[in-house]
Amino acid sequence: MRIRTITNWAYGITMILTALSAGAFIMSSRSAEDERRAVEEHLALDTLTEQLEMGAEFSSDEARFYVMRGEQRHLDAFKADEETERRRETAAEQIAARDISVVERTIIEDIDKQAEALDVLEAAAIDAFQKGDKQAAQQALFGPEHERLQTALLESAGHLRDITATRTGAALDDARRRSDQWSLVAKVMLAITGLLFLAVLYFILRRRVAMPLVRMTGIVNRLAKQDYAVEVPVDRRRDEIGEMNDAIQIFRENGLERERLDAERRADQHTKDLILQMMHRLQACENQHELADVVARFAPQIFPGIAGSLYILNEDKSALAQAGAWLEPVNAQEAFPANACWGLRRGRPHMSGTGYGDVPCHHVEGSGVATSCLPLTAQGDMIGLLYLEERNGQVPVLEDARLYLELIAENVGLAVANLQLREKLTDLAVRDPLTGLFNRRFLDDALNRRGRDNAEEPLACLMIDIDHFKRFNDQFGHDAGDLVMQYVGQILRSAAAEYGNAFRFGGEEFTILLPDHSEEDGFRFAEMLRAQIGAAALSHSGHILGAVSVSIGVAVSPGEGTVDTLVSRADAALLDAKAKGRNRTVLASSLSRPAQETLRA
Ligand code: GH3
Ligand code: MG
Ligand code: MG
Repeated sequence: MRIRTITNWAYGITMILTALSAGAFIMSSRSAEDERRAVEEHLALDTLTEQLEMGAEFSSDEARFYVMRGEQRHLDAFKADEETERRRETAAEQIAARDISVVERTIIEDIDKQAEALDVLEAAAIDAFQKGDKQAAQQALFGPEHERLQTALLESAGHLRDITATRTGAALDDARRRSDQWSLVAKVMLAITGLLFLAVLYFILRRRVAMPLVRMTGIVNRLAKQDYAVEVPVDRRRDEIGEMNDAIQIFRENGLERERLDAERRADQHTKDLILQMMHRLQACENQHELADVVARFAPQIFPGIAGSLYILNEDKSALAQAGAWLEPVNAQEAFPANACWGLRRGRPHMSGTGYGDVPCHHVEGSGVATSCLPLTAQGDMIGLLYLEERNGQVPVLEDARLYLELIAENVGLAVANLQLREKLTDLAVRDPLTGLFNRRFLDDALNRRGRDNAEEPLACLMIDIDHFKRFNDQFGHDAGDLVMQYVGQILRSAAAEYGNAFRFGGEEFTILLPDHSEEDGFRFAEMLRAQIGAAALSHSGHILGAVSVSIGVAVSPGEGTVDTLVSRADAALLDAKAKGRNRTVLASSLSRPAQETLRA
């Protein structure tokens, strides 16, 4: 029941009880008034009765004294008692005027008659005495008739007193009893009112208001300090306190929800910050190794529940090679064909494995984990693949993170594309397009760097010239000449890859720099090159081009000279090789200085 209803009821009952109690007090007071009136009436009747008795006795005595002694004063007193007689009559009238019973009224009438008869008798006696008949007068006053009348009058008066005493006593008792009863009722009402008040005070104020309020104050204080761990007890009462409890419960639930949303927002912001940081670093990567390293470091921070691997497509877009991996994905193959991935085939993100009903990619088939393949594209070109798999069976993670993962994939794709574009531009700037070797400008830069930074470290330089190259052009066409050039370039590139760098110096001349190689090493390397180049017989458009031979000059630094003169010294040796009949290797150190000068000139 609602507190307001209870208090209204309590208020109403208290009012009724108070009114009843007041009524009982009024009734009690009225009964007390009746009691007082009964006492007064009793006293008045008693007095009046006494007056009746006294009056009769007094006048009889004075009459007797007069007839006995003959003294005038007794006659005067007897006559004066007529006044007393009037008082008696008045007293009798007063009694009769009161609310008396029929019996009392009859007795008063008897008293009145008896007093009258006594007065008549005494007046006759006095009259006889005055006429000289003293004896008759005395006989009348002391005779049996006077005695009878006086005794009857006194008995009547006594009887009247008893009856009035009985009647007024009964009225007094009745009034007193009623007064006591009403007084008791009034007290009981007051006690009930008081108890009701105390009960309402205890149950409503203490048990239903004060105690829950104290408890709620503690809860609200903790909620105000954002301590949402506080438990709000379930209060099934449908009163104001119950409603307040429900409101606090809702407030707590809202707080928890807000806290959860805040945590989500913070986590989301943290994810965005990490993604932004990763993007900035991706833009600054100089090669794919750096790029893969950035992705492998940031991806597990952004999504700790997702393992993954970054794959880059090869140039002809037929196969993927792993560039980096994080959190040890169970299905991360080193390489696989491009058509093994449904994501790459469709050019769209592809989710499969546990929790997804889609067809699994061949490179993850039977993996037992949820996987996602996000193709990396840039300007419509397929570049690679971001392969992701959920750890610890956290199936919803991939789905939840889908938007961010796609954002990451888009940015990684752009970064890879930028890198590849930059590499292409760099290649264009430093490589010779026909042979794929570094160009002359790159050679000059390399030599300058070498001379500047570590000129004292051994460096062998090979100058290579294809013998009678012009003949290929002239006999088989320029394309055949290009083929010979590419053939030689390929061998030089492969051979030098492990030990140094190969350059196209210009025309059909090439240079190889071999760091940490002595002149002897350079010579052996040159001889190995000559053997490789001369081993194959080329053909072009059905024509046998014949064997290709090269002449090589070898020089080293810092032994015979500095890095600055390295190329010219090797070139001098090359010229010497040409001069000596071609298809041979000549060491610069074998040339006499004047010969070198001459040759170089
Ligand atoms: P030697 O044995 O004395 O070196 O004689 P050679 O014929 O090799 O040398 P020469 O300097 O007489 O001829 C070089 C020719 O190479 C001249 C030029 O037309 C040709 N050549 C230069 N660059 C290219 C190229 O990129 N492609 C083709 N096909 N020919 C080129
Ligand atoms: Mg030449
Ligand atoms: Mg030549």
